[in-house]
Amino acid sequence: MQLAAAGLRVVCIEPEDAMRQAVGESLDWSAPDLLAALGLPMEGLVNAGLATWKRHVTVKLRDGASEHYVPGAWLAGAPFRVELRTLHVDRLRLDEELLKKTIENGVTVVRDTVARVERDGNRLSAVHTVGGVRFSSPWFIDASGFAASLLAREFELPAIQFGPPKVAIWTYFAISELVEGTSLYMEPLPKEYLDWVWEIPIGPEVVSVGYVTTGAAMKVFRERGLGVEDIFRQQLTKFPRFDALLRAGALGPCNTTAFRSRVYDGVAGPNWFVAGEAASMVDPITANGVTAALRHAAEASALILKCRKRGTLPLRARISYNRRILQMAKFFNVGIEKILYEPAVRNRLGARTSGTVYTTPAWSMNVVYARLKPKGILKTYVLGLVLGFWRGCAWIFSECCKRLPASAESAG
Ligand SMILES: Cc1cc2nc3c(=O)[nH]c(=O)nc-3n(C[C@H](O)[C@H](O)[C@H](O)COP(=O)(O)OP(=O)(O)OC[C@H]3O[C@@H](n4cnc5c(N)ncnc54)[C@H](O)[C@@H]3O)c2cc1C
Repeated sequence: MQLAAAGLRVVCIEPEDAMRQAVGESLDWSAPDLLAALGLPMEGLVNAGLATWKRHVTVKLRDGASEHYVPGAWLAGAPFRVELRTLHVDRLRLDEELLKKTIENGVTVVRDTVARVERDGNRLSAVHTVGGVRFSSPWFIDASGFAASLLAREFELPAIQFGPPKVAIWTYFAISELVEGTSLYMEPLPKEYLDWVWEIPIGPEVVSVGYVTTGAAMKVFRERGLGVEDIFRQQLTKFPRFDALLRAGALGPCNTTAFRSRVYDGVAGPNWFVAGEAASMVDPITANGVTAALRHAAEASALILKCRKRGTLPLRARISYNRRILQMAKFFNVGIEKILYEPAVRNRLGARTSGTVYTTPAWSMNVVYARLKPKGILKTYVLGLVLGFWRGCAWIFSECCKRLPASAESAG
């Protein structure tokens, strides 16, 4: 949309079945500005029934304890002037709206799948589709998502992975009373990697409910003869909130997806970019995937517009685009793995305090990113230093927690 609005001829190649049940429904506080830049302001989305307000995140433990995470009211005042609300979105409807706007802005949407690319060394010259069409272009953006990661595979980019492979199961329930925040349900066990359940009100009368666990745990469930719905039901029955919803029944079948947090190194070339989950997969509990995808798209588009006359992306721009994606993915993924998923830190601090320890730098860094607008190499390195510092702190703290004698632990 941004490229077409600036007068470029843009073709978006996406298969027909792309309008599937997408996840990415609870948005981080930086996403609304990015959506507003595409002509989708928060009020409009809420009024049109495509979104609900998200003012906080609540962690609810199986023992009944809970914790609210709310951005500090001081952030709304000078000099920060941060919007304290963000959104939950109905992705099917939001994606339809985005598609409509994309076409209105002059983008040609081709219902096909890219099968292979044509290149001259590190430069792309064309893509070939399953339907047998060749598209040549001076510039390319690969936004093919986690499973395809088209250009990362083509250029054999090195991947950095975080935590174990995971699986998510989710569906939708009708509700009679609107819930205003995102709720995360968990039962942190002292020796176990964390699994958790989300509840996200994507509309005034519908909640998205999902369960995230490791691929290994899922394999054990399956070996016991449990089907996807049995596993899902078993997890939801741990929390009284879902009793009535389960009795009333889900609105449709269970969706499943497998993923692993990771980031590729080298996600920009002389005339191409990798954006969104094709470049970096940030763990869903961070609610940062949509923000990241919109940011990558905006930054890649701005760089194409800046460099279109010379026809090549300078090395400095390539390095800084890549470093920003790399550093943000490492920061969010290392932070959440060390502080919440792995048991060492949460055993010592308790899950609720671990949540605070994670959310404080995570939310602040997103605000810093939005304010700093790190485009050039200098700001990118400054951002990288700050992110690296926090990441180092999380790692050292986690190592200390692992090494300190067990008697000093205070679980709960
Ligand atoms: C379980 C789970 C929960 C999540 N929850 C949240 C959340 O609460 N908040 C949040 O912000 N993020 C969340 N995310 C992340 C979020 O869903 C994504 O980051 C976001 O949707 C951006 O994805 P994307 O556009 O990069 O990729 P996708 O949405 O996967 O889109 C990729 C597109 O490329 C198309 N494609 C693939 N291969 C080809 C090809 N060869 N040729 C042409 N087209 C192709 C696909 O059909 C698809 O349409 C979650 C992720 C998971 C797995």
